[in-house]
Amino acid sequence: MTTLNRTHDAARRSWVASANGHADFPLQNLPLGVFTPATGTKRDGTKRGGIAVGDLILDIPACRHHGLLGGNAETAAEAMSGGTLNALLALGAGPRTALRQAVFDLLAEDAPAAIKDLAPEILHEARASEIHLPVAIGGYTDFFAGIQHAINAGRLFRPDGEPLMPNYKYVPVAYHGRASSVRPSGWPVRRPNGQRKRGKEDAPTYGACRNLDYELEMGIWVGAGNALGEPVPISRAGEHIAGFCLLNDWSARDIQGWEAQPLGPFLAKNFHTSVSPWVVTAEALAPFRIPQSPRDECDPAPLPHLNDADDQAQGAFDIEVEALLLTAAMREAGAAPHRLSIGNTRHLYWTPAQMLAHHTSNGCDLNAGDLFGSGTISAPEDTGWGSLLEISRAGRQPISLPSGESRTFLQDGDEIILRARCTRDGMASIGFGECRGTILPAPTC
Ligand code: CA
Repeated sequence: MTTLNRTHDAARRSWVASANGHADFPLQNLPLGVFTPATGTKRDGTKRGGIAVGDLILDIPACRHHGLLGGNAETAAEAMSGGTLNALLALGAGPRTALRQAVFDLLAEDAPAAIKDLAPEILHEARASEIHLPVAIGGYTDFFAGIQHAINAGRLFRPDGEPLMPNYKYVPVAYHGRASSVRPSGWPVRRPNGQRKRGKEDAPTYGACRNLDYELEMGIWVGAGNALGEPVPISRAGEHIAGFCLLNDWSARDIQGWEAQPLGPFLAKNFHTSVSPWVVTAEALAPFRIPQSPRDECDPAPLPHLNDADDQAQGAFDIEVEALLLTAAMREAGAAPHRLSIGNTRHLYWTPAQMLAHHTSNGCDLNAGDLFGSGTISAPEDTGWGSLLEISRAGRQPISLPSGESRTFLQDGDEIILRARCTRDGMASIGFGECRGTILPAPTC
């Protein structure tokens, strides 16, 4: 587990003025990404690795060009100079940590004047840059670790039975998602067509999804992978997790209800997945690690291959997560987005390390840049439920918006905005940046 060091010192400030007090990207965060600077700027035109600081992006190839990095930090910087972060993630924590420390020193208030003089060469306005998906994703797996979401969904679909399946407290349940349709924040989301069948209907019809939903999740970026046939032990699993993002697992509930038996989600989920584009590193999140929430007394202990004392003691995270809705009418009126829910990753039943250990426990190999979704994060109280399925009780209870509109599921023009924030006394607060997506009408069929 990462220990705290000078890069977590809340008292340190940056000479990049917008970083100081920035809601997401103060000096103590330094998330990794891939961007293209605005045309017309120096060294424009190519995708390259960057680090967000305040409202700006530090251009890593430009730092290398000026010889600002050395040793292990230079190794990391070289690995993030191309169009993806895969090579960097594959290096594991050592070079990534060295880069964090080197960049912290470059951007700290007491950096040499010669570095500050290079600002026009090495920093770009984030707003004017194009921010890309940070990695080429080889595999995407969506877990189901939000136990309150699992209970809520179980109650809606099996009102007379046990809400949780018998395996839930033994197995970090997951399905294999579709890597090709993951897109960064801001990419419009086309409403899918598909086979839908309502309860009373005799046969399905093919048409536009009528119950389009979002799912508020944490994304987990795999760092160094494992060889096929060689499981990662739970005691080492945390070392294979490079960072985190926000993830919206867009879900077509009516398509899901018809297609999902017996093999689980397919076209209801794989038409689009949105992620926030900055990789908030495991190192940046070190101050916000917490013990895994205690299991109920009657719950089984995790089986030995998923049970590690260190992981149980500090393998969970205290990250506040929030979902907001902005309808087309609200946008036109200049209204603020409406908060749908606010919850916390502490409500996940499995830690990221348990997810990774479980994923490899049969010998399945993971590669650098593979992506996990945590599963929908819902809090015990209904102000923290992470999907419209839950909030609207499967469409039976419309929610009223301040605009006078109401919603059960998403309409065309609606935008979902996910945000996350970490706070702890004595530490600098950090955020994830936004994960946004606006619904476009379905293609004509
Ligand atoms: Ca999901």
